[in-house]
Amino acid sequence: MIKAKKSLGQNFLIDQIILNKIVDLVNIQNKAVLEIGPGTGNLTHHILKKKPKKLIVIEKDNVLAFNLQNKFNEQINIINKDVLEVDELLLCDERLTVFGNLPYNISTEILSKWIKNINSKFWFDSLILMFQKEVADRIIAKFNTANYGRLSILSNWKLNIKKIMDVDPESFLPKPKIKSTILLFVPKNDFYEIKDPKNLETITRIFFNHRRKMLKKPFNQIFNGDKKILEKFNFNLDMRPQNLDYNTYYKLAQEYEKLTS
Ligand code: SAM
Repeated sequence: MIKAKKSLGQNFLIDQIILNKIVDLVNIQNKAVLEIGPGTGNLTHHILKKKPKKLIVIEKDNVLAFNLQNKFNEQINIINKDVLEVDELLLCDERLTVFGNLPYNISTEILSKWIKNINSKFWFDSLILMFQKEVADRIIAKFNTANYGRLSILSNWKLNIKKIMDVDPESFLPKPKIKSTILLFVPKNDFYEIKDPKNLETITRIFFNHRRKMLKKPFNQIFNGDKKILEKFNFNLDMRPQNLDYNTYYKLAQEYEKLTS
């Protein structure tokens, strides 16, 4: 019996109905697939039943990686590393379908890293990821809502996001204290060109630094009160950061890039 490590966010999904549902979301027959944090291999087993061409898994836990190797042999390629230290662009020369019941303590870090690492072409064709519900709510939040913020703006930049379902704690072993949510991410055909994602991060960091305060202060801090830029955007500086939609932030990042390049 494996003792789950809390530090690695080990809550293993055991609900067969949900496991089946996850692998039925997209067609992976003959496709290259990546699984993050396969753990004891519950989802891995379901992925393999769908006959992918190739399955790469990234698991940080040495004991679990060793057991997975024994269990699945040459059916999987195991990378026994921290996912945050793996360069996803070097994993495969075709687009990957990515599955992951992510370790919750680093889930936003993983997603942000992947989004920032999309350059001229996407390295994946879809991401099917499980998050802590509260994090998923922030990812999919629309403007004018309490959950809207930096994570929603970054996540929706290059990706269309669909909520698939919430998952109850009873579906995992050990049972987590929180609810989970499965999201499906698919690349957008068109998105705002921002050369360096760090510029989008800078803009949203400064604007959402004081989310209850008016836009005046962050706008003036970044654009030095530039009237031409303000006219272009035509927004009222008495509004709050959550009143501006995603696209306005992408356009603000473009303006900021022009100023700083
Ligand atoms: N996919 C399995 C399932 O659904 O039953 C396990 C999911 S569990 C929530 C998270 C998994 O990610 C664990 O197996 C854990 O060891 C692994 N993990 C945690 N941190 C990791 C990291 N930085 N890089 C790669 N794997 C990690």
